[in-house]
Amino acid sequence: MFDFSDCILLYGPDLCPHHCHRFVVQGDTIQRIDRGEPCQALERGTWVIMPGMYNCHTHMGDSCLPDGATGMTLEAGFFRPNGYKYRELAKQTEADHLDHITHHLRYMARSGTIAHVDFREQGVYGSQLLRRASEATGVRSIILGQFNTLPFSAAELQHNQAHLSVQAQAELEALLEVADGFSESTMNDLTDAAWVQIRQITEQRQKRRAIHCLENAGYREASLAITGRGDLERALDLFQPDLVIHATVADASEIALLSQHRVNVVLNPRANANLGLPLPPIAPLIDSEANLLLGTDNGLLNSPNLLAELDFTYKVAKSQFGDAVRPDPVSILQMVTSNIRGFLPDVYGYLDTGLPADFVVLDFTQPHLRASRHLIASIVTRVTPEDVLLTVRQGRVLYSREQQAKLR
Ligand SMILES: [Zn+2]
Repeated sequence: MFDFSDCILLYGPDLCPHHCHRFVVQGDTIQRIDRGEPCQALERGTWVIMPGMYNCHTHMGDSCLPDGATGMTLEAGFFRPNGYKYRELAKQTEADHLDHITHHLRYMARSGTIAHVDFREQGVYGSQLLRRASEATGVRSIILGQFNTLPFSAAELQHNQAHLSVQAQAELEALLEVADGFSESTMNDLTDAAWVQIRQITEQRQKRRAIHCLENAGYREASLAITGRGDLERALDLFQPDLVIHATVADASEIALLSQHRVNVVLNPRANANLGLPLPPIAPLIDSEANLLLGTDNGLLNSPNLLAELDFTYKVAKSQFGDAVRPDPVSILQMVTSNIRGFLPDVYGYLDTGLPADFVVLDFTQPHLRASRHLIASIVTRVTPEDVLLTVRQGRVLYSREQQAKLR
């Protein structure tokens, strides 16, 4: 049970800050919110309760290799079958790998994250490993598994006719026994016929689908050369993904496509910048009907700290809008909270009486926060993991600064 009094709470899907006389949690549910007046600026230091955050694109499997691909191209560092990441993952012992992933999930909780959506490499084994780490930490892992090795040769991909073999179908079925869905690196890694098969199999099993699209222009060009269609257009037609990751180089017609289909788009601007890629068109996407989410992408590239991603995204968006007025910082914070319902209808991503107790308590008594003139802007730009007091999912404590201090 939790019982907080005289704090501030970000209320409802609009994340409106209110004085909160009492906030009571019983079991896994928010039992009581005694809401006072709305409040944007602080007169004194206090605690601020906000919804737990969702990191909608990670590869926690390579969190065992921080900054390992420094100085490498995207292809040399990350691509199948022989990129640095795949060579190094194959060398990890099960115990060491599980330890790395578990500690990085704990770090996520420490930075206010309660759940993440992961592209998990290494087939069935890879998905099982992450499931164990998730169960140990209480951080929810929505696992989107991949084939252990690509099921088509370069010649088969070029010909673009082959279906999934019986063995590949069996691997997919086994994967979906463990994972919540399927992901693959790019549309160019499988044939059109295979994408349709995978869509049908995942639909039958009520599993989720996600794909990287338009991370760089090469994705679109390779797809056009083989099929006559860009990778995003093909993905929406054949695979119908629940999540499209990146959209880094989306042009006006591709942004229109994302908007028209109200696609859930996961932006990863720090990862794009770290690979020397263009920054995603955050401003036009905010103005579109696409549902925007944020991710930190590879553990190898970035810390899985959404607070850093919020800060970067907000400032890039301002620069792209070309003024200091837009966007409203609330729209950035919604990308890691209440926008999640567009992808996961079984969660809320906001706080109200009767909803699951998925929340984070921030220490706004700290000198750099206690006189904030704009609470939401300060959460987006100034809060660090050190300012997180408590992270709770469904009533379970995932991180407590107090408990952490006792352990030291
Ligand atoms: Zn990725």
